[in-house]
Amino acid sequence: MKTTNKKPTAIPKIYCTLFGHDYQVTKKVTYHVKEYTCCHCKRQLTTNSNGSLIELTPKFKEINAILEHIHHTRMERSKEKAILSSIY
Ligand SMILES: [Zn+2]
Repeated sequence: MKTTNKKPTAIPKIYCTLFGHDYQVTKKVTYHVKEYTCCHCKRQLTTNSNGSLIELTPKFKEINAILEHIHHTRMERSKEKAILSSIY
C-alpha cells in the first residue's frame, strides 16, 4: 500500500495564483467596513476609509475593533431612541 504525503497548504496557494483569491466576508465591522478572508489561503483583507480593499494588518485589526465598538454604541443608542419614541 502506497501512502501519499500530501501537503494540503501548498494546493490552495497554487489555486489562488491561478484563479485568484476567493474572499468571503468574515466580519461586518460597520455598514461600509468589512473583513474578508480567502477561503483557500486564509489571506485577510479589509475595507479602508476610501472603500478599497487592503491587507488586514494587526494595525487595521485594531482600527476595525475601535470602529466596531463605536458602531455598536451608536446602534445601541438608536435602539434606545426608538424604544423611547415608541413609548412617548
Ligand atoms: Zn487566496
